[in-house]
Amino acid sequence: MDKILATIITIGDELLIGQTIDTNSAWMAKELNEIGVWVLRRVAVGDNWDEIWKTLDEESQHAQIILITGGLGPTADDITKPLLCEYFGGKLVVDEGALQNVKNIFKRLNRPMIERNLKQAEVPDVCTVIPNRRGTAPGMWFEKNGKIYVSMPGVPHEMKGMMIDYILPKLPEYYKMPFILHRTLLTAGVGESFLAEMIQDLESSLPAYMKLAYLPNFGMVRLRLTVTGLDKQALENELEETFLKLQGLVKEYMVTNTDETLETIVGRLLHSKKMTMGTAESCTGGFVAHLITSVPGSSKYYKGSIISYSNEIKKEILNVQQDVLDTVGAVSEETVIQMVKGAVKTLNVDYAVATSGIMGPDGGTPEKPVGTVWIAAGNKDQVTAEKFSFRFDRSRNIDLTATYALNMIRKFILEH
Ligand code: AMP
Ligand code: MG
Repeated sequence: MDKILATIITIGDELLIGQTIDTNSAWMAKELNEIGVWVLRRVAVGDNWDEIWKTLDEESQHAQIILITGGLGPTADDITKPLLCEYFGGKLVVDEGALQNVKNIFKRLNRPMIERNLKQAEVPDVCTVIPNRRGTAPGMWFEKNGKIYVSMPGVPHEMKGMMIDYILPKLPEYYKMPFILHRTLLTAGVGESFLAEMIQDLESSLPAYMKLAYLPNFGMVRLRLTVTGLDKQALENELEETFLKLQGLVKEYMVTNTDETLETIVGRLLHSKKMTMGTAESCTGGFVAHLITSVPGSSKYYKGSIISYSNEIKKEILNVQQDVLDTVGAVSEETVIQMVKGAVKTLNVDYAVATSGIMGPDGGTPEKPVGTVWIAAGNKDQVTAEKFSFRFDRSRNIDLTATYALNMIRKFILEH
């Protein structure tokens, strides 16, 4: 079956020098995938006339749908609009709806409007205008040689508004979209290559329209099964059947069979048990708390954190004993166990998780090199602790520690 192919072109010098991270195309690709559009390429170009022109020519040869963001601002560096006007052979005219929108926005902000702002309401006379209810620059929809080109502002929430309100509902009117369905599971404690060995028979027996992807991240591997086709019910059945087989093969390492984050899973576990938790964080400095509280509704089960970055706080607030700190040190099994006990008591929670480690780049010793981390999880009766030897850089060590801490508390809650 023929796929509906799209290219995403993101425009802006800031994308090429790494000043702005291109989050637009990642978001758009995900949304397009949901409605059955296959993203063939994502291309970033600067605010450069020839480069944008060449990219349009090139991508027109491969994709039916070309989505463009960026370069629609009122300043001289933004050239996308005049370029598209010339590319599609039109001339710039004032769009009444867009003009009214610009005027309304300035009135609401109570700010004076200058000629430059009014220019925002000009569009090529060969496009269909896409209203922008979150900003001044209108979007533009062009059709040429059976292909669709859409230009949107670079500002992420303006682009999202247009995609949701207009573009995503409109595209299926033009093409018969296939269904693209995914099932995802997360494994921990097993490397990618070992996983591949475990599931190689299943993998080699998959039909062409079913794909298996390995997505390793922070010491865990997500496996994603994807099917593409027109008969939704048949696809769902087949996906379910294969996914069950896959789960069976990796069950001893499986953390979850949903596409959810660890913090969401931990939250749901606690919520269903009507239990609470807290954190005692040294080396993660509150990052575990941040992840947990980024889940909506976390106040139902999460009470708080003690960021015991110094030995003084470990001792005074979490009751870690001075002789433990003097003998085995802050990065030790004893310390994290006492941190958990202290947090359970001080925060008055059912469960707690604690982290203590050397994140780098300095502070390592021959016995405890950078990346040495102790994590403990427990309740008032029992605490389990584990040592990890990460490497890498500081920020990655913090991410890894938080991920493993969440996984440890998840396991502990399940087992106790
Ligand atoms: P522009 O439409 O070129 O005036 O872009 C306005 C702002 O949107 C820029 O200053 C960027 O901060 C942001 N932006 C542009 N392109 C992207 C992108 N691909 N991903 C995320 N933000 C972007
Ligand atoms: Mg720009």
